[in-house]
Amino acid sequence: MNNIAIITGITGQDSAYLAKLLLKKNYKVYGVVRSIESSDFTKLRYLNIYSNINFVEVDLMSFNEVHELLRKIRPNCLYNLASQSSVGWSNLEPYDTYLFNSISVLNMLESIRKIDIKIKFFQALSSEIFGIPDNLPINELESISPVNMYGASKASNYNLIKIYRDTYNIFAASGIFFNHESVLRTGDFFVKKVIKSAVEVKLGKKSKIQLGNLNIKRDFGSASKYMEAAYIILQAEDPDDFVISSGKSICLQDIVNYIFKKLDISVEKLQIDNELIRKNDVKNSYGASDKIRSTLGWEYDTDFYNVLDDMIYFELNKGKV
Ligand code: NAP
Repeated sequence: MNNIAIITGITGQDSAYLAKLLLKKNYKVYGVVRSIESSDFTKLRYLNIYSNINFVEVDLMSFNEVHELLRKIRPNCLYNLASQSSVGWSNLEPYDTYLFNSISVLNMLESIRKIDIKIKFFQALSSEIFGIPDNLPINELESISPVNMYGASKASNYNLIKIYRDTYNIFAASGIFFNHESVLRTGDFFVKKVIKSAVEVKLGKKSKIQLGNLNIKRDFGSASKYMEAAYIILQAEDPDDFVISSGKSICLQDIVNYIFKKLDISVEKLQIDNELIRKNDVKNSYGASDKIRSTLGWEYDTDFYNVLDDMIYFELNKGKV
């Protein structure tokens, strides 16, 4: 009999790659959406897997609906990738971000506790839980000290996972992800935003590109590769939390320069907009994924400039996702 997986946030970037991976491994995949009628399935269609997913409408804020979902489907594993996933948006909507990102996870863990503690649970966490790091590179021993509401909501997930794991013996595990990108990234995140705007400038649809602070460094990786890590984490003997990172940081200015050069755009098209500069921006951040490498054998080997090339090519040739 096939393994059964439920993926929440199935319309998102990561879920699309994870669903593709699980289908390849012969899982029956259920994808949770807010509304089948109004959801955007572009990413799943792009990967040619839309018709292989069993869609289910569930309000993840409702304990009863989450409980009913698990009771009916009885999956082997539940990957929770649904989240208000943007730091910028969390600054504008702190209450809704915290509420959804924390209560949805509580509903899932509590439903597993009540229905079957053998259902394995994966949670996508974020390097934002660490805030301004004491040490670089950042590993699993770094103190949890978020500086924005998105990070705070993910820190609450971290605590819940630990409690349900230690107290109720649930296989609750997490990937503490650093930034990861792909052609499926939506336009409100930095790298995709720059590429989209730069292509618009190239095509004469826009005259300038406005950006915030470019003198900060971040760890960027490949979304499809990071979803392999998510899968591997649930195959481990014991549940645990793992930093998933490329292991180095790149300055945002270097990314912009690379995109401009690739598209042959003059740097004069760039405008720094002080309004876009965030308070509390961490200056430099990169992770160390030694723990997952040594215990589970996941190794990061993708050059981020190759991911950038794919994203630029995609935006130039295929239009928006
Ligand atoms: P994404 O593309 O923004 O997808 C987010 C998904 O969550 C979408 O399917 C969205 O559904 C769903 N969602 C958002 N708000 C919801 C709500 N209130 N109710 C129900 N569903 C909701 O995110 P991603 O990049 O794939 O990230 C996947 C996970 O990894 C997230 O937990 C994110 O926080 C985490 N993460 C990502 C990165 C990264 O660099 N990508 C880094 C660290 C952590 P709709 O289509 O209905 O909006």
